[in-house]
Amino acid sequence: MRYTHSVMETWRLLDTGPLSAAENMALDEGLLELKAEGKIPPTLRFLQFSPPCVLVGHHQSVDEEIRLDYCRSNGIGINRRLTGGGALYWGTRELGWEIYISKIHPSVPATFEELYRKFGESAARGLRHLGVDACFRPRNDIEIQGRKISGTGGTELAGAILFQGTVLVDFDIDVMLRALRIPTEKLQDKEIESVKERVTCLKWELGFVPPLSEIKTALLRGFGESFGVTFDPQPLTSDEQNLLKQKLPYFSSPEYVFKVRDALPRRKTLSSIFKAPGGLIRVSMAVDTKTRVINQILITGDFFAHPKRLIFDLECLLKNSKATPSHIRETITSFFSDGRPQIPGVSKDHLITSIEEAIQKIDLLPWGFDAEGTHHLFPVLKPFREVRKPDVLLLPYCAKETQCPYRNEKGCGECGKCSVGDAAQMARSFGMDAVTIQNYEDLEATLLQLKRSGARSFIGSCCEPFYGKHRPDFERIGLPGILVDVDQSTCYDLGQEKEAAKGNFENQTHLNLPLLQKVLEYAHG
Ligand code: SF4
Repeated sequence: MRYTHSVMETWRLLDTGPLSAAENMALDEGLLELKAEGKIPPTLRFLQFSPPCVLVGHHQSVDEEIRLDYCRSNGIGINRRLTGGGALYWGTRELGWEIYISKIHPSVPATFEELYRKFGESAARGLRHLGVDACFRPRNDIEIQGRKISGTGGTELAGAILFQGTVLVDFDIDVMLRALRIPTEKLQDKEIESVKERVTCLKWELGFVPPLSEIKTALLRGFGESFGVTFDPQPLTSDEQNLLKQKLPYFSSPEYVFKVRDALPRRKTLSSIFKAPGGLIRVSMAVDTKTRVINQILITGDFFAHPKRLIFDLECLLKNSKATPSHIRETITSFFSDGRPQIPGVSKDHLITSIEEAIQKIDLLPWGFDAEGTHHLFPVLKPFREVRKPDVLLLPYCAKETQCPYRNEKGCGECGKCSVGDAAQMARSFGMDAVTIQNYEDLEATLLQLKRSGARSFIGSCCEPFYGKHRPDFERIGLPGILVDVDQSTCYDLGQEKEAAKGNFENQTHLNLPLLQKVLEYAHG
């Protein structure tokens, strides 16, 4: 009879303490190279960053992901990871872990998906030892009740793997929102607040900041249990220190940090708003316009999703996926067919339409619209490209000079004192009629009359809250069109929407004439 005696494997533990972003990145490369050359044992390294920094994924462009001015003026370091994935902000209280291991190590799963799962589940298991309910969320997050506490990612070199993850300990989410180009530009304050619900950290979960040593012990337990190993703390070897010194100048250089640069920025923020019976849905997404991949997506609004993670999970599924109508429809349909709870008053079709309406704005970009301009365009009934040769331009009375004799009457004398006259002339140059709209009833009557008389479509101008509120009315009336946002603070911002609907709004808005001109050129092109 043969007896086997298994000895538990020991991995090396490095704890390199707070280092700059360049030092940490240089060390990552040095350790990975040494692992590939078979010169170091399986190694787990704990890392921290000081000063705080933002790290883009290996293939990302710094300019597109990071608010450089904010980072520079706030002493936030900027660097590039060896691993792929998205940009992240790393405060001085956060803890990183990373594992260097051979690809053919018996504990390393063969498939990419399983590898992410195993490392992610190991880290989540460690965090659970701290008393939080952490679990792995495919493809590469660790979450607590749908809120992300850790992201992970890996890379490989000649048979060696570097797999790393963060643990948010005492996270400053406001700094993160300012430092990274998360597509929040179009969100209102309360929606930005709701974006914060997508992230959590140990402090918020536990009510206190656990000592770093306890977090490290918990993570080591998690990895030790998952991989069946123990850890032996050791310092950096002199080879490793030398490699760090050699590599540091390159990892500190703009040549490395800014090495991915596009001739034309490809990442654009696109947005849409949609009024569903259950509330307003606002979609804000960053899309790579060349590959048509969704880099990030935020679905916010005043609807009630229970549990809240429903929306966060959906965003996770859509992130890094194709921004095509068929893919969006497929993903959302299968998400809600999975026996998941429904969102009251928000159907899967409402979500699909909201996202599709943001995506269709990609088609406007080659026509000379910039991404900012597209935030101010709202489709009525049909995609923008289907509104061809509109018959009429509808202009709101609130853009008329407050002292103008036409302020409370239909028409405009084109005296040159406000943008309404300019817009009316613009309409004529495209062979369109210009009609001023004096109140909501007038709008409805005008649209119905146009429809009866066989008009194809219209262009109009109104503010975003008016569009959000009256979108169902526009759809009921049934004349397709494009609405262009007005330029100034609106009656809704000023709390005067009732007065405005009756035609009694006392302030003056301004038409966005350059955008209106572009829309007219587009619709007649
Ligand atoms: S341009 Fe038209 S709406 Fe504006 S002040 Fe003159 S007459 Fe009135």
